[in-house]
Amino acid sequence: MSDIKIDPSEIPFPTSPVQPALIEGGTEITFRCRRGIDCWNACCSNIDISLTPYDILRLKQRLAMTSGDFLLQYTLPYELEKDGIAGVKLKPVEGGSACQFMTPEGCSVYEDRPTACRYYPVALLSMRRQDEFTDTHAYALVKEPHCHGHNEPRPITVEAYRQEQGLEEYDRLGRGWRQLILKKKSSGPTVGKPSPRSLQLFFMACYDIDRFRDFVTSDNFNDVYDLPAETRAQIGRDDLALMEFAFQLMRQVLFNEMTIPIKPDALEKRLARKQEREKRLDEIAAKVGSLDGLRDDPNDKYKISD
Ligand code: SF4
Ligand code: SF4
Repeated sequence: MSDIKIDPSEIPFPTSPVQPALIEGGTEITFRCRRGIDCWNACCSNIDISLTPYDILRLKQRLAMTSGDFLLQYTLPYELEKDGIAGVKLKPVEGGSACQFMTPEGCSVYEDRPTACRYYPVALLSMRRQDEFTDTHAYALVKEPHCHGHNEPRPITVEAYRQEQGLEEYDRLGRGWRQLILKKKSSGPTVGKPSPRSLQLFFMACYDIDRFRDFVTSDNFNDVYDLPAETRAQIGRDDLALMEFAFQLMRQVLFNEMTIPIKPDALEKRLARKQEREKRLDEIAAKVGSLDGLRDDPNDKYKISD
């Protein structure tokens, strides 16, 4: 058993109704999930699956969808912290609790199934030790009555189970996002409350990567950020590079970690654009008498305007 003490508020996933037991990578568990087991698909019939940005990237590539279409069809947003940054979960079938990807034969996206599905019945707990911003890992074993895989006589360590489930890649590529969440949750008021615009940007950068690509390759973005041409080209064509850039940009926006150079005249240009836009809106208002629907809608969480 681990001696790590966990503050449940710092776990970046909703807590399970089942109280998990903390274990470490070398801990041996007894578990096998196999086709033909009498609980086949029970776990996928009542889902609560949080998605990482890399999970979304893999699934939208597999389904040949844009991230925006994937989010609309297969996910629901939820609050990772009250009135703060958001997460997304898999949306179950209409009127039910089963996963939309569940079929009688099993998971229809198995090779690209999300991190949480790979880990089950182990849960990854990323957490921060007191007064540190670097994350540390522990695991928990979740034993739910419907899952009979625990009765299968196969001993395996957590580390071996992680390798079997292809989790090294998923954890490596999910780490930047987990660190963002941990740091945001741990920092509390010290970093101030992010503006609605920063929260919108977090959602787009972390989950709606195709829209984020349009944003970072726009003239407006390039008026502000001084990116080398090579970086711009790479994030324009490579989803993984774009995802890592998204985490870097969010560290800059949320925590002021200034790693992306800003052009010296960026603020002046931005102010000039804002004044020009306000002037245009005032002119329109003078003609039509109302600005309803023309100014930015603060309730549109998907909208990032200049
Ligand atoms: S994605 Fe696959 S493994 Fe995960 S809940 Fe859905 S059907 Fe089950
Ligand atoms: S053994 Fe557990 S993980 Fe496998 S199908 Fe049954 S409920 Fe799901």
